[in-house]
Amino acid sequence: DLPYIYAITPTYTRLEQKAELTRLSQTLLHIPNFHWIVIEDATTKTELVTKFLKNSGLNYTHLNALTPKHYKLEEKDPNWLKPRGVLQRNAGLEWIVTNQNSKSNGVIYFMDDDNTYSLKLFDEIRFTEKVSVWPVGLSGGLRFESPIVTNNEVTNWFVFWKPERPFPMDMAGFAINLKFFLQYPEARFSLRVQRGYQESTLLSQLHVKLNDLEPKANDCKEILVWHTRTEKTKLKNEDKLKLKYGHGSD
Ligand code: UDP
Ligand code: MN
Repeated sequence: DLPYIYAITPTYTRLEQKAELTRLSQTLLHIPNFHWIVIEDATTKTELVTKFLKNSGLNYTHLNALTPKHYKLEEKDPNWLKPRGVLQRNAGLEWIVTNQNSKSNGVIYFMDDDNTYSLKLFDEIRFTEKVSVWPVGLSGGLRFESPIVTNNEVTNWFVFWKPERPFPMDMAGFAINLKFFLQYPEARFSLRVQRGYQESTLLSQLHVKLNDLEPKANDCKEILVWHTRTEKTKLKNEDKLKLKYGHGSD
């Protein structure tokens, strides 16, 4: 049977959320053997996402995990950036560890709600033995960031930003075999790592080495995922319209 794709997507309430989820879910509808784990950054599951998933036509699991407003940091801690999606992705991993077992055949993929995904990607990453990797477009201040592949093996990284990281790549640029992950069921992301180190933190816990990585997307020569970001919508005319027409437009 075709291995399953378990996609972990953190999401949070903002004006653009439903638009992002609509676009993403309509890509996902084309993918066979797909299970979508959606984790809201919220104290409770919202009505918007609950209804949205119910009507999506997808196989899904709906969870929530709130990112705390403040993290208690020690004096000597370096410059942290407020990490995004960390506890949500961990909740997704927790669900997988609890609900899947070593007979499950599939891969884990971290899919942010605002990226752009080619369907070709899923045909390839489904077949991942340990950890597979590929380029991510519009990432790291470059047209793309990518593993460098020599004779079918990853030998280096085409990145400008913090190339010293153990795995200098974006969340969208790798997938993990499920059975392989279950050998390290405690592996998690962390709120307490430096900016850009989430991916490295997780993969280091899986004890993978550079030459374990399986290049996908035609030896990393094709871009099949883009780190697109949606412009924040300005509601500069909402109040003006209310002044003009009263509150009838509420
Ligand atoms: N996210 C979240 N809570 C937040 C901010 C972001 O759950 O407070 C989610 C977001 O929906 C996305 C992922 O975390 O799926 C990565 O966030 P974002 O796309 O804003 O990060 P960037 O593209 O800037 O790296
Ligand atoms: Mn994003």
